[in-house]
Amino acid sequence: MNEHEKITIIGAGPAGATTALTLAKLGIPCTLFDKAIFPRDKICGDAISGKVLEVIRKINPEWITELYAQPYTLSTWGISFIAPNKQRVDLPFQKEINIQKPVGFVIRRKDFDNFLVEKVKKEPLVHFYEGTEVKIARYRPDSIMIEAEGKEKLVYYTKVILGADGANSIIASRFGKYKLEPKHHSAGIRAYFTGITDIHAQNYIELHYIKSLLPGYFWIFPLTENSANVGIGMRSDHISKKRVNLRQEVLRCIENEPYLKERFKNASLVGSITGWNLPLGSKLRKLSGHRYLLLGDAGALIDPFTGEGIGNAMYSGYIAALTLQQCIEKKLDFSDEVLFAYDKAIIQRLKDELDVSTTLQRLVQYPWLFNWIVKKANCSKSLKETLVCMFEDVDMRNRFKNPLFYLKILLNR
Ligand SMILES: Cc1cc2nc3c(=O)[nH]c(=O)nc-3n(C[C@H](O)[C@H](O)[C@H](O)COP(=O)(O)OP(=O)(O)OC[C@H]3O[C@@H](n4cnc5c(N)ncnc54)[C@H](O)[C@@H]3O)c2cc1C
Repeated sequence: MNEHEKITIIGAGPAGATTALTLAKLGIPCTLFDKAIFPRDKICGDAISGKVLEVIRKINPEWITELYAQPYTLSTWGISFIAPNKQRVDLPFQKEINIQKPVGFVIRRKDFDNFLVEKVKKEPLVHFYEGTEVKIARYRPDSIMIEAEGKEKLVYYTKVILGADGANSIIASRFGKYKLEPKHHSAGIRAYFTGITDIHAQNYIELHYIKSLLPGYFWIFPLTENSANVGIGMRSDHISKKRVNLRQEVLRCIENEPYLKERFKNASLVGSITGWNLPLGSKLRKLSGHRYLLLGDAGALIDPFTGEGIGNAMYSGYIAALTLQQCIEKKLDFSDEVLFAYDKAIIQRLKDELDVSTTLQRLVQYPWLFNWIVKKANCSKSLKETLVCMFEDVDMRNRFKNPLFYLKILLNR
């Protein structure tokens, strides 16, 4: 077995690409497979948060400046919540001090994922099989056998396999025995539009909490070239219970919802309306076992409140690479006991915020509570500032779980 064959990553999305880049930085060779040829599309809202910048900074801080300088990057200076009663609150993002830009931006995934993959392609330590689909992965006595198909068929042996192959991961179902649970799973659809009016002057991303979609939401995320990513995400158990057709629901919202229909009057749909799965981190699964790790969507790490998954996917990739470095130091020990360090590190970094987001997702089911917080935030500067900080800080976000927080709002702090 060659050195680069010992570690094999399936999927070169944000999770897999981050793992490969971090391993290369640590001087560790690996092999990476992706069934797609890049640049490729990925159904997503295309909104990218400060957490993504945190991970990029750990690998190479210069890439942040490079990313902001790309013509396809649109800086977004804040987020607007539109409550079920149509009241709106605008919360500004903090500034990335080094480059005087906001910590959020919107980029089509075709471009963002290709940015990372182009970095991967420059790494001599990464053997990248592009356009090669992994079909089968099976345990052998002291390895894992992989069968893949691209330009040609490939049979391949590896010491450890990393499932970074997204929401329909074959590695998660084969090794992690992952089964979809509708309460911890959402479906989302996305469409590109041009010509929507009344986009915020500083490109705020918009989350519209429409009563019939709760605890899901309708979004408008501005992009370059006068276009925007528009979509709906909704928990799968609610979709079945309410028998919602998400595609029809998007069209209904833009044609009938007061406040939206005027803005879409002269807008044009570009391409088709397409959907995909969001495995939510409202139930943290076991992410490691004998000779395998699950990353990003394959490990169900999407934030259950915001639907944000890119940052967590990249964090899991970064943590996976550090875990593998420890395995190598322990004489290539890829046993479940050693790999469990990955689960522990993910729990330490992500569990608190996933728990808070799970609580928020449940609270959002009560439209009156949402209406009330938005109303109060618009009257109280300090409450607005608290909400802004809550986006940046998990400990602050924990306040949502405390009844005293609501009492303070009631008393107007
Ligand atoms: C409608 C929608 C809107 C969303 N909006 C946002 C948002 O605005 N912001 C945000 O942060 N997150 C958003 N998400 C979530 C986000 O898209 C995911 O969390 C993120 O893409 C996860 O990254 P990943 O690397 O784990 O998987 P992916 O990005 O899915 O990458 C998986 C890769 O694996 C490859 N692959 C799959 N199977 C195989 C195989 N058998 N062999 C070889 N290669 C394989 C695929 O080609 C792909 O390149 C959204 C999701 C949806 C569905």
